[in-house]
Amino acid sequence: MSIKTNNIIKAVNPHFEGIQPDMEIDNVSIDSRSLQNNAGTLFFALPGQNRDGHYYIPELIAKGVLNFVVTHIPADTKGKANFFVVENTLKALQDFAVYYRGLFSFPVIGVTGSNGKTIVKEWLNYLLSPDYNIIRSPKSYNSQVGVPLSVIGINEKHNLGIFEAGISTSGEMEKLAAIIKPGIGILTHIGGAHDEGFTDRQQKIQEKVKLFKDSDIVILKKDDAVLQELNGKKTFTWSFNNDADVNLNRQSTPEGTLLSVKYNGDNFEVVIPFFDEAFVENAITCLMLLLHLGYNHEAIRERLAGLYPVEMRLQVKSGINDCTIIDDSYSSDYQSLKIALDFLEQHKTHKKKTIILSDVFQSGFAVEELYAKVSRLLAANNISRVIGIGETISKRLSDFPNFISYKTTQEFLAQYNANSFSNETILVKGARSFRFEEIVVLLEEKTHETVLEINLNAIVHNLNFYRAKLKPETKIMVMVKAFGYGSGSYEIAKLLSHHKVDYLGVAFADEGIALRNAGISTPIIVMNPEASAFNAMIAYNLEPEVYSARELRAFIAIAQQKNLSDYPIHIKLDTGMHRLGFEAHQLDELIDLLKNNNFVSVKSIFSHLSSSDVPQYRDFTLEQIEKFSNRSQKIIDALGINPIRHILNTSGIYNFPEHQFNMVRLGIGLYGVGNDAEERRSLENVGTLKTVILQIKDIEPGESVGYSRRFMADKKIRTATLPIGYADGIPRSWGNEKGYVIIKGQKAVITGTISMDMMMVDVTHIDCKEGDRAVIFGNAPTVVEMANALGTIPYEILTSISQRVKRVFYKE
Ligand SMILES: *Cc1c(COP(=O)(O)O)cnc(C)c1O
Repeated sequence: MSIKTNNIIKAVNPHFEGIQPDMEIDNVSIDSRSLQNNAGTLFFALPGQNRDGHYYIPELIAKGVLNFVVTHIPADTKGKANFFVVENTLKALQDFAVYYRGLFSFPVIGVTGSNGKTIVKEWLNYLLSPDYNIIRSPKSYNSQVGVPLSVIGINEKHNLGIFEAGISTSGEMEKLAAIIKPGIGILTHIGGAHDEGFTDRQQKIQEKVKLFKDSDIVILKKDDAVLQELNGKKTFTWSFNNDADVNLNRQSTPEGTLLSVKYNGDNFEVVIPFFDEAFVENAITCLMLLLHLGYNHEAIRERLAGLYPVEMRLQVKSGINDCTIIDDSYSSDYQSLKIALDFLEQHKTHKKKTIILSDVFQSGFAVEELYAKVSRLLAANNISRVIGIGETISKRLSDFPNFISYKTTQEFLAQYNANSFSNETILVKGARSFRFEEIVVLLEEKTHETVLEINLNAIVHNLNFYRAKLKPETKIMVMVKAFGYGSGSYEIAKLLSHHKVDYLGVAFADEGIALRNAGISTPIIVMNPEASAFNAMIAYNLEPEVYSARELRAFIAIAQQKNLSDYPIHIKLDTGMHRLGFEAHQLDELIDLLKNNNFVSVKSIFSHLSSSDVPQYRDFTLEQIEKFSNRSQKIIDALGINPIRHILNTSGIYNFPEHQFNMVRLGIGLYGVGNDAEERRSLENVGTLKTVILQIKDIEPGESVGYSRRFMADKKIRTATLPIGYADGIPRSWGNEKGYVIIKGQKAVITGTISMDMMMVDVTHIDCKEGDRAVIFGNAPTVVEMANALGTIPYEILTSISQRVKRVFYKE
């Protein structure tokens, strides 16, 4: 894109306050972390979700960004940049997108529905890319923010747009419709179920079809409830019931689903390489569009045969030789490359960044211009090494410093040397036809197939849920002890530090040291500091919890020896937990030690609630809070200091928000587990423990399964053996028909005793095969459900998952 700032004024009608009204803008950003932000960036300071964008403006100005759309001008930045001051920056982003979209007049397809939007969009892109220069929504950018950003990616060379629109409540579609302005509308599957945000199915339909307000035609599966809302608009419908424009019959064959298609008195057959009903329906939707565009039977048959499952997520995986792999091995276009590079920057675990990149397709740009842009993008992102695979990229990027090229993936694989990769973060990004999944397999650390998937979006959602309960000035500390409650501390700490949490809490010094080594600079408190670790803690700038006079004396002695002044410490008071901390009668001694002592400085005073989640002990908790308030005040008065005070943990924030003092300490809630049922409904699940079926067996009546013959079959059953057992942290008591896993969406009860590394489950009623996925916990069963059944607490289950289980982090 290339736009003069004058036009922004036209588009969003701001109050302009700036240094130069006529600058050139060539990209739009909402993410302060992106290394792609530069003098040509127009930055929209959005509120909410991530911490308010205004917060990052001084940082961005220092990096050379000059144009900002804001609701107010942050202190000390006036006169240093152009500010477009508006009432609502999200609305301004949308208005800008409407304006920008208006500059182009090529055909645009708009896709909406409850499910299948992204897959239909990706498939249409694949099916039509031989004939068009397509701009499409990257990933599943279909929200109030994602849609404008998608549309802003259009350039002069595109001649077809495919954008998806997703809404979660009434009133949202109108804006998206104005931005996308689809001439061709596509409605994918509309679920029957009641969705949050809508009163019923009809209301949901009413809202969704608003996308098609100005469309010339709408493609959909015949559905009277929808047709009623479309109000006579021109449609192109399909059905299995012989009552639509296109009528189909389906039949399973070894190659997939055979569809017999009747259209316009014409009959033909196509094979879709899937059996799954949802996949088949989505493929039919694509087929409908091809018919509408006038493709002949032969072309339709050929192209649909190439459909493939779509992986929409960028995955972070542990690699060989301490590498981290970011797997984006299914697409390679300019838009998604930009997103992947931002993702790489946010998730890198090493200074060194390598990218393995295939030829780049469908940019809309001429080849020369495209690779010049790619080259600039790679340079801006400080990529240390580029491995280009493909005929075109080999030639076009040859001037890039530290560029290695291969003509084909096969050539790369043949010459692959594992030792040439170590201690770096590697982005693997290639178009589907390059089959980069084979490269990922080589680079991935070889462990068994069990993974704990961590949803980073859910973590942010949960953080924001608790943040919303805090006063704006209340600080937040997040506990990442015990390896982030089992979820992996580094990735999470990194995310939290971006979201500007004020403190991180770990249990032991070595956990803090690991975070520092990984580049985390957020202040860290060590909750159980041991005297033997004081030296290391000081070297790594970790702040001790001080819970006794003995410990304080020892720490002061070391601080004195090292000639430190004002080293931050955190005083822990025991107000009833009776674990660690100063009791009331020890306060005078504490005050004496701290008085006139310049070696250390009391950064905070805190206490811990024993029963913030137990309604029956509400009074006890209030008593603890009262004691904390009085005793901390006594210290403050005696020393004349002004430290941060804090007492609330997760359940404390939820049940006693009026006692937040100056900071709270969030733990389990971040990981998606509330202690209260109501609270839990507002949280999103973070961890999903998955494995695969190793072997399937038919068990005859009278035979037994597993150790000690605890399970005896009284009828014929089938079992599946899973490579996960109590050594991975699955409680052995979860076996013997007590617990279950989920396979293909159905419950498979655990049969017999759980072994060290394996367990068997009953799959008699499930159509599954070896290699299929099994979910041990996640959305179902939940960790809470497991804990309740086993008479323990979710904390124990989460933190017991063995370190040998690979953690994989992803963002939607
Ligand atoms: C673990 C811990 C927390 C967090 O508790 P949750 O119940 O997980 O929120 C807070 N403060 C201290 C001192 C802790 O040890």
